[in-house]
Amino acid sequence: MTTRTPLMAGNWKMNLDWKQSLSLVEELGEALREVDTTVVEAAVLPPFVNIRTVQTAVEAGDLPISYGAQDISAHESGAYTGEISGSMLTALGCTYVAVGHSERREYHCEGEVETNAKVKAALSVGLSPILCVGEPLEERKAGKQVEYSLAQLEGGIEGLSAEDVAKVVVAYEPVWAIGTGEVATPDDAQEVCAAIRDLVRTKHGDATADALRVLYGGSVKSSNVAELMTKEDVDGALVGGASLKAEEFAKIVGYQD
Ligand code: PEP
Repeated sequence: MTTRTPLMAGNWKMNLDWKQSLSLVEELGEALREVDTTVVEAAVLPPFVNIRTVQTAVEAGDLPISYGAQDISAHESGAYTGEISGSMLTALGCTYVAVGHSERREYHCEGEVETNAKVKAALSVGLSPILCVGEPLEERKAGKQVEYSLAQLEGGIEGLSAEDVAKVVVAYEPVWAIGTGEVATPDDAQEVCAAIRDLVRTKHGDATADALRVLYGGSVKSSNVAELMTKEDVDGALVGGASLKAEEFAKIVGYQD
């Protein structure tokens, strides 16, 4: 039997200055004392400029919090004004980086080619990409949520070895559920998360599929996380709004209690 450590990742988006980030990560460390973090991993994705602050607080307090970035450049270094490279992130102790979030896809026109290049850039420096996929409302209404999400997944992991795919975290985030308060039902989440694992099983085999962590994201709160986590193929959550409050996010992390 495969055991996947659940991951609860907080996407802070473009919120909090460095002082507020410091307070939140310290408060989260305190609140996580109530949670058995040996069986579930807590991670935060602050804005780039606050990663150093989070690193310092995590190291100083020996806090059980992994961290990472919300985006990465597809390039290694050089004349790419405004970009942040993977090696800059690993130098700050990052473990994760979100790639292909629907807000990047929508507001920055990031498609499959760029998303795939960013996944590869992350893996090349030892970061685990959190590859976000998920359908807009019209696709769900047309019953095409699985097809749509799998097409994004295939594009995102194109050209990767089985070994690298196992290091990817896939976040199924239906666009209509992000920031709307409208959470997918546990069965809806399971349907797409299971299809994601099945596709990886078909292309890369049992060991890779069994190791792959598949998260659900979209209006996750402490009041709905436990039910989502009963589903076999849901290995955690990517959390936006509710990750900005330490007590609430710690409750989400500790869904098992
Ligand atoms: C997200 O942005 O990844 C997200 C899931 O946001 P929220 O939890 O606020 O819906």
